[in-house]
Amino acid sequence: MIDLRSDTVTRPSPGMRRAMAEAEVGDDVFGEDPTLEFLQQTVAALLGKESALFVPSGSMANAICLKVHTQPGDEVLCDSRSHIVSYEAANLAVFSGLQARTVDTPDGLLRPELVEPRLRTRDLHSPGTTLISLENTHNVAGGTIYPLDLLVQLRSLASARGFKLHLDGARLWNAHVATGVPLARYAEQVDSVSVCFSKGLGAPVGSCIAGSHAFIEASRRVRKMLGGGMRQAGVLAAAALWALEHNLRGLAEDHRKAKFLAEQLSLLPGLRLDPASVQTNILFVELEDELPTAPDLCALLAERGVLALPLFERRLRLVTHLDVNQAQCQVAVEVFAEVLTTIRP
Ligand SMILES: *Cc1c(COP(=O)(O)O)cnc(C)c1O
Repeated sequence: MIDLRSDTVTRPSPGMRRAMAEAEVGDDVFGEDPTLEFLQQTVAALLGKESALFVPSGSMANAICLKVHTQPGDEVLCDSRSHIVSYEAANLAVFSGLQARTVDTPDGLLRPELVEPRLRTRDLHSPGTTLISLENTHNVAGGTIYPLDLLVQLRSLASARGFKLHLDGARLWNAHVATGVPLARYAEQVDSVSVCFSKGLGAPVGSCIAGSHAFIEASRRVRKMLGGGMRQAGVLAAAALWALEHNLRGLAEDHRKAKFLAEQLSLLPGLRLDPASVQTNILFVELEDELPTAPDLCALLAERGVLALPLFERRLRLVTHLDVNQAQCQVAVEVFAEVLTTIRP
């Protein structure tokens, strides 16, 4: 199978498994796992934050950050297609008692002129907007990158108007590799950031959140509350450390493969996408009306060994990653062409 549904499908490589097997470990709830400590220090340094905390998943990472930044009844402002409102089972409403105010954007990017008119001050009638959540890269907008200057503008608006900024940086690595902007330059603009090791970096499990010492101390307790305090988690930290050392720079290859797929697929009849819009490792393909729906087309592709994700009725998602090489991308293009020919002989 050529699995292009997500970069989460990557499996730990032999080298990574060896690093996991050999990791020195201890009980992290007692703060005694040296490998986990080292990972947290490494990530804090990479992101230029005082402190970092390892958590089991990106969803838990975001949930903890939102909880620590807010009080029940607050409003959080985010793009309407962001992961926190689309794919985290309404966690922000259930666990943190937040109301989401969503903004439609063409590219997943919030801008000061979209944010400012929607800020609300808490009073007898209104919830207060205490947090703005951003996503870099933006998953459903197609792996789009936040331009640094836009983040700087949002930072100064946040300082002037007294709200906090959280960055869902599950794929911040991809933005960094695509632009060369240091991770810390992105993270500097926000109060908290979450990053995932289990997407393009290829680790089996794990995310980190980073922020100030006080923020991370509060987060540690919320993590425990959610059941995310783990014991000999150094085996997982070892995978994340191995991924940072061996797989981070290689994300550039994923970006090249995504560009290749976009260029080739855009030439096929019935498929609509603009290769120029592909910035990282995610691409969305629109299906013209004469084609079957995305779920039906994905079923036909799967019969021929190519997996794509039908995220919408007429739009499917492809994500490049470590476990699909250039030759397999070429095969995937051929399979798309073949399936389209059987539909429109
Ligand atoms: C994958 C992802 C997450 C985390 O999802 P999990 O399923 O909890 O790993 C968070 N934000 C974005 C933008 C993601 O793509």
